[in-house]
Amino acid sequence: MKVLVFIEQRDGKIKSSAHEALTVGAKLSGSAANMAAVIVGSGVAGSASQLAGWGVDTVYTVDGGDLANYNVLTYASGVEAAIKAFSPQLVLGVASPMGRDLFPRLAARLDGGILTDLVSIDAAGNDITGIKPMYSGKCLAEVATAGSSINFATIRQNVFAANKPNNGSATASAIPAAASDAKLKTVEIRKGKSTKPDLTEAVVIISGGRAMASADNFKILHECGDVIGATVGASRAAVDSGYATHDMQVGQTGKTVNPNLYIACGISGSIQHMAGMRTSKTIVAINTDKDAPIFGVATYGIVADLFQAVPILTQKFKELLK
Ligand SMILES: Cc1cc2nc3c(=O)[nH]c(=O)nc-3n(C[C@H](O)[C@H](O)[C@H](O)COP(=O)(O)OP(=O)(O)OC[C@H]3O[C@@H](n4cnc5c(N)ncnc54)[C@H](O)[C@@H]3O)c2cc1C
Repeated sequence: MKVLVFIEQRDGKIKSSAHEALTVGAKLSGSAANMAAVIVGSGVAGSASQLAGWGVDTVYTVDGGDLANYNVLTYASGVEAAIKAFSPQLVLGVASPMGRDLFPRLAARLDGGILTDLVSIDAAGNDITGIKPMYSGKCLAEVATAGSSINFATIRQNVFAANKPNNGSATASAIPAAASDAKLKTVEIRKGKSTKPDLTEAVVIISGGRAMASADNFKILHECGDVIGATVGASRAAVDSGYATHDMQVGQTGKTVNPNLYIACGISGSIQHMAGMRTSKTIVAINTDKDAPIFGVATYGIVADLFQAVPILTQKFKELLK
């Protein structure tokens, strides 16, 4: 199957989730000649080198000043041009906010089938089958495309493990950006204040639960996070109680994360929370209740009051990292 993978970037830096899509694409396409990538943006002409070793021979680059800020119309035109050049049977991406916006529009433009937010994906002839969680993960739907000449699919972030790159190369093929006659303009993109990576990209996360008891108390997690470069997350109970914002929520109805280190502070370990973080490489749980379910998935457990344990950890990390 010929697969074209859409590569998401910010300021020319490829999102790590693109590697997950490339890994899935490599499995479905079976060879580097059958898989290509497309990257759209401003200053992305040289990005092909960042994709060397990721299983693609050709990287279509659509570069233009008008493409500096994401705009669904101009980006869809860029991907459409790459589709015309490569004639894939499947266009694959990630169910990120951008993927959720872009892929349905592309499928509508090209009259293709579309499966979104997949946690499992397979080829069936020219069609695609997959599994997607529905109703906040209360059930899993088996879904399939049905006979379109082109299909589109997005995978859920942090579910498919990315391969390690090999020593292969990738060649750039520039596609001129079409003159923008878009009826919609992106005037400004306001970045969040945080300098830390988004939870879905974070390598280290420290999260707080209901036990944080106030928004102000999250300060101790931010202090610890600043020392170890961790992004701060939260359980839904903490978000619903107004202690943390929704973009910080980890879990089934929040973000799926896959860091090297996840520190859960005052989080009991509900099924819904663990659905979003249980694949973290190392999990440290701090909880006063030694029987809390979170200890069942934790690599290291600390049975203690988080308000005592976290400042001690912060101090120790400072000493170790100075
Ligand atoms: C459809 C649906 C979707 C959901 N989606 C999500 C989701 O995406 N993410 C999510 O997190 N939840 C989700 N939930 C909610 C989930 O069921 C739990 O209610 C929630 O995860 C509990 O959050 P918590 O662990 O912070 O709170 P609690 O379960 O109340 O746990 C608090 C923990 O803190 C411990 N504790 C108390 N004081 C201290 C202290 N001083 N120091 C250390 N430990 C202390 C307690 O022993 C306890 O284990 C969802 C629920 C439903 C029904």
